[in-house]
Amino acid sequence: MNPDSASGFTTRAVHVARGYSGTTGAVMPPVYLTATFAHGNPDGFDYTRSGNPNFRLLQDSVAALEGARFATCFASGVSAMTAVVSSLKSGDLVLAEENLYGATYRLFERVFAKFGVQVRYLDLADAAHWSEITRTRPALVWLESPTNPLLKVLDIAGLSRVAAGVGTPVLVDNTFASPYLQRPLELGATLSLASTTKYLNGHSDCLGGVVATNDPAWQEKLLLAQKALGLQPSPFDAWLTARGQRTLALRMERHCATALALAAWLESRRGVRRVRYPFLPSHPQHALARRQMRGGSGILVAELDCPAEPALEFCRRLRLFTLAESLGGVESLVCHPASMTHASIPAAVRRRVGLSDSLVRFSVGIEDFEDLRADVDRALTEVLG
Ligand SMILES: *Cc1c(COP(=O)(O)O)cnc(C)c1O
Repeated sequence: MNPDSASGFTTRAVHVARGYSGTTGAVMPPVYLTATFAHGNPDGFDYTRSGNPNFRLLQDSVAALEGARFATCFASGVSAMTAVVSSLKSGDLVLAEENLYGATYRLFERVFAKFGVQVRYLDLADAAHWSEITRTRPALVWLESPTNPLLKVLDIAGLSRVAAGVGTPVLVDNTFASPYLQRPLELGATLSLASTTKYLNGHSDCLGGVVATNDPAWQEKLLLAQKALGLQPSPFDAWLTARGQRTLALRMERHCATALALAAWLESRRGVRRVRYPFLPSHPQHALARRQMRGGSGILVAELDCPAEPALEFCRRLRLFTLAESLGGVESLVCHPASMTHASIPAAVRRRVGLSDSLVRFSVGIEDFEDLRADVDRALTEVLG
């Protein structure tokens, strides 16, 4: 069945991506574990590097959820970013938000800098900096919202309007929100990128990335990158992701409710200096978050009233939150960004963007709120007294 685009979000999540059932009546698609396809087949498949039924099912489904004409899937979020940046050329300028995922910064600085792609980092939550877009006319504006790990919320519609004025495409890394909470293309962005490793798949059992767009020229570049650079996922991982995304709305509702409750409780907890969560009134861009997102998502950060070492010890003492990189799965995780996900960002840069060494990032899973709260409470008492 192919529900029309007027169907609700979850109807699309469940019903798109079930095709290719042929004459078997299978309710769910098989995994097409094939490297190649007989020449001249009616569906136009060729070789799995450039397409596979499981990729198409996932791509159709993600496009339906993002409200996009096209989506292309990749082996990981980093592969998806590689596909986009490899479409630029030497001498091109990227204007990026300064608070980026660590691997994004590393990809720009350690890889694409060698090929002459220049990146300038700015605080794009401050509208006073937006005139740099008009002044420098970059080849691409690169946003993340909410950002990792500070959860800054950027005005996607406002920034897209300014960039459109000088014909600059805007990419939004939508990993933290997922298309259930925020749809960047509807807000004017050109490209919506996600690491499907996180919320879209939601079960922490495979890596993946996707880029959605309405622009046929960009779509052509992304498909070229998928096959020319060998950035394609495995059919099995695409199948897992297509399965995971069917329950995206249900999971996100639960992540949002539990994270908001935990953030509100933590804010008044002794030993916690500061809590950041987009749907808490204390968040600096709270009104914008409410306008732009349907919920605050499942990530929250807390700055503990202690130095780096006890903050890390607190993370180790949690029992229901595993100390691990990544986020967005049904299970709760905790991370100490300064020593883990953001260790590749120089200490001086971390300080400048406000990434404190006592910052702890929680990825709140779908477990029961009271169990999670009690776990955090106990670990805080053990470490801070
Ligand atoms: C995890 C993540 C990525 C990279 O995705 P991988 O699937 O790990 O390669 C990119 N952006 C953000 C915001 C992420 O959280």
